[in-house]
Amino acid sequence: MALLQIVKYGDPILRTPAKEIPKVSSKIQKLAADMFDTMYAHVGVGLAAPQVGENKRLFVLDCSTDEQPQPQLVFINPVIIKKEGALISWEGCLSFPNVFIDVKRYSKLTVRAKDVKGRTFTLTPEPGSLLCRAIQHELDHLNGILFIDHLIDRFGADALLKENGLPAIDPSLILPEPDLDQILQCSI
Ligand code: ZN
Repeated sequence: MALLQIVKYGDPILRTPAKEIPKVSSKIQKLAADMFDTMYAHVGVGLAAPQVGENKRLFVLDCSTDEQPQPQLVFINPVIIKKEGALISWEGCLSFPNVFIDVKRYSKLTVRAKDVKGRTFTLTPEPGSLLCRAIQHELDHLNGILFIDHLIDRFGADALLKENGLPAIDPSLILPEPDLDQILQCSI
């Protein structure tokens, strides 16, 4: 078991697109195992490689609850092949301690990736589930995108960041999401 250091918001690696993993080597398998250890130690449900300083397209998830255990999932070189619908998701991030905000997400998706043994799999999580939202959050990390880029209330988020000693929102990085906005306005 090895615990890795989690980088905090403000570190440039969190804004750097990660590189494809050409081969699922034993080194990558060890990284994934260490990322699970690190994630559990911080009571998180997901962790992406850039958050531990590794510029690689890999993230891990465990969306288990006390009532419902779930398998450990490793996503290597993941691609979302279908996404639709919209919802508002209450999220935090291990790189933003104590910051929880509402963000916009798709409500349904299908993702394809390689697992920790290098086998390709396709997954369509239950629409709106924690797993569905967490996949979007973690995959964003591999593209240098953070959950704050999908925020709904910029000034509320800024106040929370300040309270926790983190850098302010960069308004130029807030994503335009007209497709999500359209659905969310209809459903509110
Ligand atoms: Zn995160």
